[in-house]
Amino acid sequence: MLRKNRLFTPGPTPILPAAQTAMASFAMHHRTADFRALYSRVLADMKDFIGTRNDVLVLASSGTGVMEGSVSNLTSPGDKVLVLTAGKFGERWRDLAKAFGCVVEMLSAPYGETISLDDIRQKLTPEVRCIYMQATESSTGARHDVKGIAKLVRAQGDETLLVVDAITGLGTTHFDVDGWGIDVIIGGSQKALMIPPGLAYCAVGERAWKRMETAKSPRYYFDFRKERKAAAKGESAYTPATSLFAALGAALDFIRQMGNGDLVAGREALVNNAELAAEMTRAGALALGLKLFAASSPAAALTAIQSPAGTDSSAMVKEFRESFAAVVANGQGEMKGKLFRIAHLGYYDYLDTIGILAALEHVLASVTGKPVEYGAAVRAAQEVYARCAAEKRQPVGA
Ligand SMILES: *Cc1c(COP(=O)(O)O)cnc(C)c1O
Repeated sequence: MLRKNRLFTPGPTPILPAAQTAMASFAMHHRTADFRALYSRVLADMKDFIGTRNDVLVLASSGTGVMEGSVSNLTSPGDKVLVLTAGKFGERWRDLAKAFGCVVEMLSAPYGETISLDDIRQKLTPEVRCIYMQATESSTGARHDVKGIAKLVRAQGDETLLVVDAITGLGTTHFDVDGWGIDVIIGGSQKALMIPPGLAYCAVGERAWKRMETAKSPRYYFDFRKERKAAAKGESAYTPATSLFAALGAALDFIRQMGNGDLVAGREALVNNAELAAEMTRAGALALGLKLFAASSPAAALTAIQSPAGTDSSAMVKEFRESFAAVVANGQGEMKGKLFRIAHLGYYDYLDTIGILAALEHVLASVTGKPVEYGAAVRAAQEVYARCAAEKRQPVGA
């Protein structure tokens, strides 16, 4: 059969056609009034997308660039920081903080699990200058309790900053950034925003701006204060990724349309869309007798599914690609071969979700050589969809 190439990876994700068109026809110089207007409009819209009144910065890099900036701008060598980790992206925080000479305290949970609030409470002292965590750990498919953690941090006062890598959290999870008191929240373009890799963004609150006055770690390109100053004039400090800004503008317009003209409502629709696709996928996997990798606290951004006993998930990933041109993600690091990951963040719809579950049935049959009850995953997903439709938890109308 004919095969269409489709990405089901938790970044990069499928690109919105309107964003692709916007990029292809874009030819603006960045030091012009027209571009300044686009830049300012996109930054203002990004506040609605993130759900904050804090300043938003958008930089040309992958997500890790702004993660690095959140260490270099907020810490001095020798600062004590607490890293909450239960996966490969949590470990990236550890490595970054070490690279800038921080004294890194770790609070770890096994891969696939989430960190307990009681454990955090015990580690949280006013000497901890920053807490670094993920909203959703894309390597395991687990969702962490940002709200609960923020409550603990804020109860302690203003000494500890909370920095959240929400690179797959934004657009898939509800956040009240200002209400909960998240000091820095970080996102990336190639995730729920439906545009190519190349932009990383963050919203930075007052406590964090204040910390930057005394933080001494070296920084240059990712100097948030310099970028904030430029942004106030509708510019970036250096050449911005201009065509990606055109794409981002188109994506934000699309999300606004999803909310019938209201960007905040559109963002909620995007979150609900991911939630529904994730719920369908979990039900489908379980109906095939598969086990979820992060069963106790699954994210909506993606679903990590354990490969059946005796089966290497690499063989499943390969079969998805070869038979259906569907690119699903293998496990990362030590998890390689043990699980595969199907994304729901961004430009995924009902047919994508039903399609990947139908493909999963064939992949499972061919890789394990065991009989599969065709339709079992699809039926379970259909039932989830029907129930949601009846509850008027309608997905997107785009
Ligand atoms: C994708 C992702 C990142 C950023 O990775 P880059 O390759 O630098 O864009 C960071 N954290 C999480 C949780 C992610 O999913």
